[in-house]
Amino acid sequence: DDAAGNATSGGADELLGGLLASGMDRRSCRSRYETWRYYKHFPYAPSPHLLRKLRAYEARHRRCAPGTPLYARSVERLRSGRSAAGEAEECRYVVWLPFDGLGNRMLSMVSGFLYALLTSRVLLVALPPDSADLFCEPFPGTTWLLPLEDFPVANLFGLGHNPEQSYTRLLHRKKIVVEDPASNATAAPVPAYVYLSLGYQLTDRIFFCGEHQLALGRVNWLLLYSDLYFVPSLYPIAGFGDELRRLFPARESASHLLLRYLLHPTNPVWGLVTRYYHAYLAPATRRIGVQVRMFGFASVPVDDMYNQILACSRQERILPEIDADGDAAAGTGSKTSTAILIASLYPDYYERLRARYYEHAAAKGGGGAWVGVFQPTHEERQATESLAHNQRALAEVYLLSFSEALLTSGLSTFGYVSSSLAGVRPAILLTAFRHKVPATPCRRAVSMEPCNLTPPRGVECRRGEAADDGGDVARHVRVCEDFHDGVKLF
Ligand code: GDP
Repeated sequence: DDAAGNATSGGADELLGGLLASGMDRRSCRSRYETWRYYKHFPYAPSPHLLRKLRAYEARHRRCAPGTPLYARSVERLRSGRSAAGEAEECRYVVWLPFDGLGNRMLSMVSGFLYALLTSRVLLVALPPDSADLFCEPFPGTTWLLPLEDFPVANLFGLGHNPEQSYTRLLHRKKIVVEDPASNATAAPVPAYVYLSLGYQLTDRIFFCGEHQLALGRVNWLLLYSDLYFVPSLYPIAGFGDELRRLFPARESASHLLLRYLLHPTNPVWGLVTRYYHAYLAPATRRIGVQVRMFGFASVPVDDMYNQILACSRQERILPEIDADGDAAAGTGSKTSTAILIASLYPDYYERLRARYYEHAAAKGGGGAWVGVFQPTHEERQATESLAHNQRALAEVYLLSFSEALLTSGLSTFGYVSSSLAGVRPAILLTAFRHKVPATPCRRAVSMEPCNLTPPRGVECRRGEAADDGGDVARHVRVCEDFHDGVKLF
């Protein structure tokens, strides 16, 4: 079985075993109430502790959201640059900023949301026009959209990875001070906001040290700039690890449950998904998703990649084998069929696979007699600045996530998100580093978790607390199947 664990324990009901809050308007976000009919695997039920935390989060979000007096007061404090040193603010925020492609964004969103859960903050998202109509409001009776027009920080989308207000630079300028817990100094400065640069450059990697978490806890506004799934790196931080273990008794359920909780495609995207699904995928008895990402730094000729896909499929038994003798008697009278869904920027793999099952009968016993091959789009190039392009990309992420089994591309967050949503441990194609086709075509993932491609390394924390996942590999993470510098929960 490609799903992890018990395939139904997560509760195949429309609120996903209580994960989703009830009482939201069905018509304004149909996907929220309908995805459960499409997912094939429900490997993990949310823990009672997670459910309590989510309901408490939702209540906090309603108290603190844009439009409330508490929000107005917090923004006023931010505008005037006044901090509330020593004063415990009821509402503290994490503002998510966009960085990189859709898969990266979805992963940093769930990471930021989990960080907000762990630190009793409220997550607001700053969405540029290219993302304005992708995701529904996730929290009942409130909004997660940051009102951009009266937010006092200028040039929000252009600050990059090393602005003046980044945490590390503020520390150097002594605008924020990490207090020694042994001393009882209390008048340390607290800036009105701190920018957390946690993208692949990892400018503020000291974020992952416990003592810096104490300093950041006194800051009302955190701006989060990240393209990473940094959840694995939260585990070693004192105070977070125990809570994470209670929230997610099965570690590999973290991204799976957080993605299904937080992100719901808007009606226009859901229209793409459901029209395509019913027309092409629903008639089959089994669906297999194949996601092919070709990175510039690892490009190889189409035939090499195609052969790698076939070799991987054979090794991990993913796609139906063909009857090489061409005796097309196979399948007659059979009622089983397979739909192969291809997601790729290019049409080449679709064309080759379609020809393969057109020209050959499927071998007896594997995956069903009739094999259809489908690809919704081939966009040719990434166009993250275009809303319609992103809507099509998001539709494909969800179509992939409705597969029984997945074959994905290494290093691709697009593939990572699809697998986590699906609740499937995919076969991951290995990357052709330096354009060299890898000897091993793919590896079966040890978990449905995304890889954190840039975990903090070599960070010196006080009190010997390790921020370095690498030193902790045996306990909660493993080296990723597709990247030796990355780590993932398992
Ligand atoms: P990653 O670069 O593979 O980690 O994934 P991202 O989602 O972060 O960025 C890649 C972007 O390229 C996507 O968001 C899409 O805009 C586009 N893209 C890549 N692969 C596909 C695909 O198979 N289908 C579609 N529609 N878009 C894709």
